[in-house]
Amino acid sequence: MIRTRTVNDAHRLRTAQLDMPPRLLLGPGPSNAHPRVLQAMSMPQVGHLDPRFIELMNELQEMLRYAWQTDNALTVPVSGTGSAGMEAALANLIEPGDVVLVGVMGYFGQRMVDMAGRYGAEVRQLTKTWGEAFTLDELRAGLEKYRPDVLALVHAETSTGARQPLEGVGELCRAYDCLLLLDTVTSLGGLPLFLDDWGVDVAYSGSQKCLSCPPGLAPLTLGPRAIDRLHRRETQVANWYLDMSLVSRYWGPERTYHHTAPIAMNYGLREALRLLVEEGLEARWARHQANAELLWDGLADMGLQCHVSPEIRLPSLTTVRIPRGVDGKAAARQLLEEYNIEIAGGLGELAGKVWRIGLMGFNSRAENVTLLLGALAQVLGR
Ligand SMILES: *Cc1c(COP(=O)(O)O)cnc(C)c1O
Repeated sequence: MIRTRTVNDAHRLRTAQLDMPPRLLLGPGPSNAHPRVLQAMSMPQVGHLDPRFIELMNELQEMLRYAWQTDNALTVPVSGTGSAGMEAALANLIEPGDVVLVGVMGYFGQRMVDMAGRYGAEVRQLTKTWGEAFTLDELRAGLEKYRPDVLALVHAETSTGARQPLEGVGELCRAYDCLLLLDTVTSLGGLPLFLDDWGVDVAYSGSQKCLSCPPGLAPLTLGPRAIDRLHRRETQVANWYLDMSLVSRYWGPERTYHHTAPIAMNYGLREALRLLVEEGLEARWARHQANAELLWDGLADMGLQCHVSPEIRLPSLTTVRIPRGVDGKAAARQLLEEYNIEIAGGLGELAGKVWRIGLMGFNSRAENVTLLLGALAQVLGR
């Protein structure tokens, strides 16, 4: 006779139907997804090798090429958040003993140092005060001194609000026979990016910042020099899930099963990219710049100071100095609790010193700037 066990109900948690507050996400990400993106995500699910899904995969790749201004064949959304894109970029390029030079001008540069080390790279660092960016001469001196296989830079440092200028960097990397790897998580869809013109060999991004899609996908692109490096590897990529020699066969004509693509996330990213194509890159970049300037003017009117100098200040993420005598954390909490507006504090060198305000993608709108400035004035009593 079969004895049935009694079910333990200890973890049988009964919860209310999900009801989340309507936050305005003006921090460093995620930003609010566009309503059309959320709508697309609720479309009927199909199989991940369904002909209609395969068509969608091709559309996504083509629109990503537009967003990045690249002709790279290997351009795909990696399953995972922006950090999975970072990990994929590094894991595929690095073989143990390779010299990787990372430009560290904030938190995300530090994360690349950590990741590159885990894949066996000899990591070298150039460092910069948080809020500044590297000059071409500083990068040249770094390449001359360390002769790296890869130079890794962050285009838009979300921890500081600074933009790394890239004109001339690609030529420099070619002169030193080094690959250029670029983090474009907070720049893709928000500020000018010309991957091919700039000679960027590998770039990655995230769905959740200026693309107005929820977190969950990480666009990745590899140019011819990077593909060549991939083909000449002597060791296997040390990460099965993110091995682009396998993943690219799923996204390429072979359609060989590797892992199941997150179907609904890819629907969402398709709509997010459709929005970008509709608006056009020039208009998108101009909108981000105009709304950021509106914010900067409003902050100045309130007597608040931006941390980054205007020439390299990101339109997608602004760091504002917390005035003397103000409890930055308490003010941010008050914005969240009383106004449903999320902004963030600083990290690392800027912890306790700045607030971080994001105007990304769908959220980069004049009415959001007005709302935030009004709420901030109330909270600060200004
Ligand atoms: C947000 C961010 C990441 C990481 O993305 P996640 O989606 O949090 O994994 C990487 N680099 C930069 C510059 C970012 O802003």
